[in-house]
Amino acid sequence: MSTDHTKYWKSLEEYEAGNAFEARAAIEFADTPLGEASEPGRREFLRAAGFVFAGAALTGCGRAPVEQAIPMLRQPEGIAPGRPYYYAGVCGGCSASCGLLAKCRDGRPIKLEGNPEHPVSRGGLCAVGQASILGLYDSLRLQQPMARGKNASWLDVDAEISTALDGLRKEKRAVRVLTQTVASPVLNAQIRGFLKGFPDARHVVYDALSASPILDAHRQTHGARVLPRYLFAKADIIASFDADFLGSWISPVEYTSAYSEARAVEASPPRIAWHVQLESRMSLTGAKADRRIKLAPPEIPAALEHQLTAENAPYVQAQMIVEGANGPTTREADAILQERGIVVVPDILANAGGVAVSYFEWVQDLQNFFWEEHEVNQQLQTIMVNSFRQVWDFAEAHDVPLRMAAYMMAVDRVASAVQTRGIWP
Ligand code: SF4
Repeated sequence: MSTDHTKYWKSLEEYEAGNAFEARAAIEFADTPLGEASEPGRREFLRAAGFVFAGAALTGCGRAPVEQAIPMLRQPEGIAPGRPYYYAGVCGGCSASCGLLAKCRDGRPIKLEGNPEHPVSRGGLCAVGQASILGLYDSLRLQQPMARGKNASWLDVDAEISTALDGLRKEKRAVRVLTQTVASPVLNAQIRGFLKGFPDARHVVYDALSASPILDAHRQTHGARVLPRYLFAKADIIASFDADFLGSWISPVEYTSAYSEARAVEASPPRIAWHVQLESRMSLTGAKADRRIKLAPPEIPAALEHQLTAENAPYVQAQMIVEGANGPTTREADAILQERGIVVVPDILANAGGVAVSYFEWVQDLQNFFWEEHEVNQQLQTIMVNSFRQVWDFAEAHDVPLRMAAYMMAVDRVASAVQTRGIWP
């Protein structure tokens, strides 16, 4: 029997409210729809309903107040009162920065929709983006600046901040500008201009839905801290490891449109990329998958090293394993998989695309001659497919596993290069 009497709370409200919360929680499943009253009864319901109906009837009979429509004294060009007009902008709901059109009426944005001409969103806008307009009309938004907890005027606050910044500049002290990801080149240029005025100033970016771990992981696997973009429209097989790319991952609107292109069953000829989703909680993406595999979080191998071990390798059901991460299979597991006849396409081969494209970048930079994206993809495909064929043929000819074949070929190539050119460039 457990002797652990630690008490946990599920929310701050629960922690702060104490007994009052527990009393409310005790009637969580009360069978009345009228809230927490113990027994509102039919009579109370009819009384409440009577007030509502009577109020509605009285309002309906009343005469609407007279309102004066006053034309604008200085009418902006192209704007007619009562007629909607549209501004193109960028959604700030996450770092994907989808293009949007804001429908405005009489100076106020009233509806956001995707901009069909924007290359990222192509007319789409996710639920978060659609709802972001509500932030403008949030009654809890501050209506004016505040200083030390009290309402203040912009003039006073500006003057106080300018004085403080002047002091910091003179004393050569640190200044940090904290924002979410800024997609606007104009705003970025303004921030850079502001930072230049201080000896120790930095722009710190913080997003509530941060892509920082993906950037860090990409630096570890590919040597560059950049956010990858995935071309789902071109995929034949989509394997997602806990990435809810249709819901909230990296650029969901862009990926949703590309995903529907990859699974255009009604197109002629039809095209359907097969999609497998490994995840621990039901996601929008998982709900669309052809095969959804439920896994506990620690069981999702993702891009971690040493996930296939001597303990789990005997139970692997796959006929082929393609190592998308660096070193996901331990040496012991490799031996077991080989003995069981499971083909392992090694990371040095399967995961080499990033390195190949880095090489393309290097070559293009040296020549100052830059390729279009389709040319990069074409060259990459040629290299990857040819390498796979060469390693496969070599493995068959020498009766060794693919990993060993890839290493043998790599060592052979380096040795011939050294023999031909010498060690020093
Ligand atoms: S994915 Fe959604 S929240 Fe993010 S920028 Fe696009 S529309 Fe906005």
